[in-house]
Amino acid sequence: MNADVVIVGSGIAGLTAGAILSKKGKKVVIVEKKAHFGGALRQFKRNKISYDVGFHYTGCLGRGEILDILWRYCDVLKDISVIPLSIKGYDHFEFPDRSEPVYGYFSYEQFAAELLRQFPSEKHGIDTYFSEVQKICSEVPFYNTEFSLTAFLRGYKSRPRSLVDFLNTITKNVHLRAILSTPAFLYGVPIRQASLEVHAMVAHGYYLGAYTVAGGGQSIVDSFLSTLTRLGVELFSESDVISVEAENGAVTGVKLASGEKIFCSQVIFTGHPAQIVDMVPGSTFRPAYKTRLRELKNSLSLFAVFGRGDRRLDTLSGALNYYLLPSKGEVVPENCNTPHHLRPMMMTSTRSGKGESLHPDRNGIILLRLGYWQDVVQFEKSNQGQRSDEYEEYKMKIAREMIHIAEERWGDICGTIETLAVGTPLTFRDELAATEGCAYGAMHCLDQFNPDVRTRLSGLYLCGQSILMTGVAGASISGLVGAGEILGLEALWEEVTKCT
Ligand SMILES: Cc1cc2nc3c(=O)[nH]c(=O)nc-3n(C[C@H](O)[C@H](O)[C@H](O)COP(=O)(O)OP(=O)(O)OC[C@H]3O[C@@H](n4cnc5c(N)ncnc54)[C@H](O)[C@@H]3O)c2cc1C
Repeated sequence: MNADVVIVGSGIAGLTAGAILSKKGKKVVIVEKKAHFGGALRQFKRNKISYDVGFHYTGCLGRGEILDILWRYCDVLKDISVIPLSIKGYDHFEFPDRSEPVYGYFSYEQFAAELLRQFPSEKHGIDTYFSEVQKICSEVPFYNTEFSLTAFLRGYKSRPRSLVDFLNTITKNVHLRAILSTPAFLYGVPIRQASLEVHAMVAHGYYLGAYTVAGGGQSIVDSFLSTLTRLGVELFSESDVISVEAENGAVTGVKLASGEKIFCSQVIFTGHPAQIVDMVPGSTFRPAYKTRLRELKNSLSLFAVFGRGDRRLDTLSGALNYYLLPSKGEVVPENCNTPHHLRPMMMTSTRSGKGESLHPDRNGIILLRLGYWQDVVQFEKSNQGQRSDEYEEYKMKIAREMIHIAEERWGDICGTIETLAVGTPLTFRDELAATEGCAYGAMHCLDQFNPDVRTRLSGLYLCGQSILMTGVAGASISGLVGAGEILGLEALWEEVTKCT
């Protein structure tokens, strides 16, 4: 089989790159190792309830914002029903030692006003925080599309500043620090390792306004799949790419585990960058680059309970996410020895069925708690379907603890929770092909330079959440950049940004 470009992985990064390249006339093949397309965006079902894994909400989908523009350009937005989240307060931040929740409004003005109401003596710190986040993002092309994308990507990257050092200069209030740090939950980096710049880039999108999608992540995937099919893209599932073939320093194709080869001159790899090292001929990368990729530190993982409440959680007029944050220490602790009950946890619900936000009879509840690879490393050799009784007991014990806390704290809104599925870092490793079960790929943190989209091997590009920025927005934008490196970056950027 021949193609112009083979895209390895069908998560949002691969789907975005595929839509752009095929629209521009390239013959594209997307190859996915799992049985279903969509990567972390796909849903799974238990007892007729559809559960999202890697998509609950996102920023950047407001009219004229980058995801709106990009998905419009990809011709997928017409089939995606974007739901702006209630301005009444979509994240509820709660602490064991604080009676009233703090409402995380998705608007700079309203969020700042709520924080001032709750922390009246902290005006200077609150103002400084929001103005610094806005200042950092004012020159980021994803947020201000008048700026050149090429200059931003190739420009000198100044040394990132520490989020903790910054917070130290603005407030000593433990609860306020925790709330301002909470976006770290959306990029999976312990606060001590978080950089102010990455924090700002992720948080800014949500502070401008947060959105979900009717039918959840699956409807985003379905919309991309229908456009890709219409554009003639060939998609193969259950096809594991085991190597990228090259000759004279340039890509010639990929080889699948089945032995089949697809010949092409360009490959976009969207899996974890550490995995590419053993997929290319041994002399392709310099030893230092190989070591850098292999030793990339990974973002944190999660424990997840997918259950059913006996009350309906109305996430569109109430809160979307109920957070229980620790009162002591950092909100996202560095140390895996942090006892489970001192880790942040959140409750959200499912948004099932296209065209409807919630199914009245199917009160799908999702509980997420911070997890570390070290929590499950003793079980790492086990595969799905063959786990030990010891692991099953461990997993269910954690699920029971999480349910107990959720029912105790939020029982009046979710009722009694029945467990339908439980995920651990091991589940994420196996289900999402995520090294060490990391929820957000390689960490975007203080002392780590994540790899560039371009590689030393001509025709090989790296995209996905580990490269530019995390989340659906970050991964989708990386797909745009990958396609841009093939088509001409700045010309594509100009074309995409006109698509308002
Ligand atoms: C529990 C959880 C909750 C989240 N919540 C949110 C949220 O609310 N909002 C948000 O914006 N983000 C959220 N995220 C993060 C978001 O889902 C991801 O950042 C994003 O979907 C990653 O997209 P991607 O394309 O980079 O990678 P992926 O979706 O992981 O796709 C990569 C694909 O490549 C495939 N692949 C890898 N190697 C190979 C190979 N050799 N051959 C063939 N295929 C291969 C994999 O199977 C996978 O399908 C969450 C993540 C998790 C885990």
